[in-house]
Amino acid sequence: MHVKEKLYIDGNWVSPVGSGYLEVTNPSTEELIGRIPAATCADAVQAVVAARRAADAWGRTPVSERIEYLARIQRGLAERTEEIAATITAEVGMPLKLSRRIQAGLPVAVWESYVKLLGEYAFEERIGNSLVLREPAGVVACITPWNYPLHQVVAKVAPALAAGCAVVLKPSEVAPLSAFILAEVIHEAGLPAGVFNLLTGTGAEVGEHLAQDPDVDLISFTGSLRAGRRVAELAAGTVKRVTLELGGKSAAVVLDDADLPTAVKATVAACFINSGQTCTAHTRLLVPEQLYQQVVELALAAAGAFAPGDPLNEQTRLGPLVSAAQRERVRDYIRQGIAEGAELLLGGAEPPDGLATGFFVRPTVFGGVTPEMTIAREEIFGPVLSIMTCRDEDDAVRIANGTIYGLAAAVWSGDPRRAERVARRLRAGQVDINGGSFNLLAPFGGFKQSGYGRELGAFGLEEFLEIKSMQYK
Ligand code: NAD
Repeated sequence: MHVKEKLYIDGNWVSPVGSGYLEVTNPSTEELIGRIPAATCADAVQAVVAARRAADAWGRTPVSERIEYLARIQRGLAERTEEIAATITAEVGMPLKLSRRIQAGLPVAVWESYVKLLGEYAFEERIGNSLVLREPAGVVACITPWNYPLHQVVAKVAPALAAGCAVVLKPSEVAPLSAFILAEVIHEAGLPAGVFNLLTGTGAEVGEHLAQDPDVDLISFTGSLRAGRRVAELAAGTVKRVTLELGGKSAAVVLDDADLPTAVKATVAACFINSGQTCTAHTRLLVPEQLYQQVVELALAAAGAFAPGDPLNEQTRLGPLVSAAQRERVRDYIRQGIAEGAELLLGGAEPPDGLATGFFVRPTVFGGVTPEMTIAREEIFGPVLSIMTCRDEDDAVRIANGTIYGLAAAVWSGDPRRAERVARRLRAGQVDINGGSFNLLAPFGGFKQSGYGRELGAFGLEEFLEIKSMQYK
């Protein structure tokens, strides 16, 4: 049992002002595994004051010193990867084998990328008679979700610290435990007091306070569209800079000359990873009408390999959903898909056989899905794939672009030039061509209501920088 009674504020572990707490549940056993403080606005005020006090000196620290601090933190995280993987599997339910690589390995690699980038980045340039400076944005509040809890934290905290900003982090209350590991590592690395602060609590209380606090200069938010809209609304009161990484309804566009078995297998995997609880999940498989039957057979074969089970078993590829509430939401979407006339090809809303405990959902595949159906438009955040058909390339682009989201997409074609031509027409922040793999230096973020701003690599660093020009006579 992970019992956390303190918040990390101004370089110390301190007791919160109130006595409220929140519970953390293991989604595969339904057992209570942790307790964290439910911080209040009074705690948030203290954290922001500490960050404000620390921001100026940290922002003026030479880059070489910032690199040393960041490198120490990276090593500290790397030493604890096994513990991080086990902790996140316990709170989120991702199969442990995948957690090691993705939930623990990826954040360490992203942190390392900023150690390297900081050594290469040009913070100043001359333009005519001006010197253009990129200065730290100041006090930054980071609010993150539960699905890739440490990755989403690191994608904000590493570039913010690298940029010279002071940080107040409010991780998801559903999966907060890895953020405590990061705070311990940061403390051991000797980061100056107040440069990093950790508050746990609800979005309604702590999150909304941070979005409004006049001493917060920038708010970096990842989460749902609903909460992102609220954050932007509240931040407008003090004209804060805001970055939003929100949901998605990403399409995999399979063209008629694609390597069908590879494309379908990869799309099913990209839809079901982390039980479908991935903002970039390829949830709409868009195929030419004449290939539909073939695709259905391939999709069923691929999806059949995702039997839900114990995430600690090395063979398991599909864990539970994160919570009972999330499971109910997903089941409701499955029922709605059936009610609106989609063809249920695999899975369904009933609990999987033999898994009476845990928030498991059957891997589900729908065929005959049309663009106006709810399951084709809304983010489900569960292991549910919708197979849709298109007449030709133009129709594929129209359908792929036909949702309010624009986070990710994929294109599959035997002709790389054709694939690129279609990829250029897709209104999405990252488009994978023929299974191109995730690049942690490439900008990550959305078009349309998937949000604004970019994370990772140099673009991610620049979100935390203000630009100043000084003119010389
Ligand atoms: P959520 O919006 O409920 O919570 C995310 C964070 O925001 C949590 O820390 C929560 O406490 C906080 N929050 C909630 N309401 C708030 C409010 N009114 N004011 C301020 N903060 C508030 O989302 P979630 O359920 O944790 O995560 C799932 C969602 O996140 C999905 O929609 C998913 O697509 C999205 N997501 C997006 C990305 C991306 O990079 N685009 C990555 C992962 C998840």
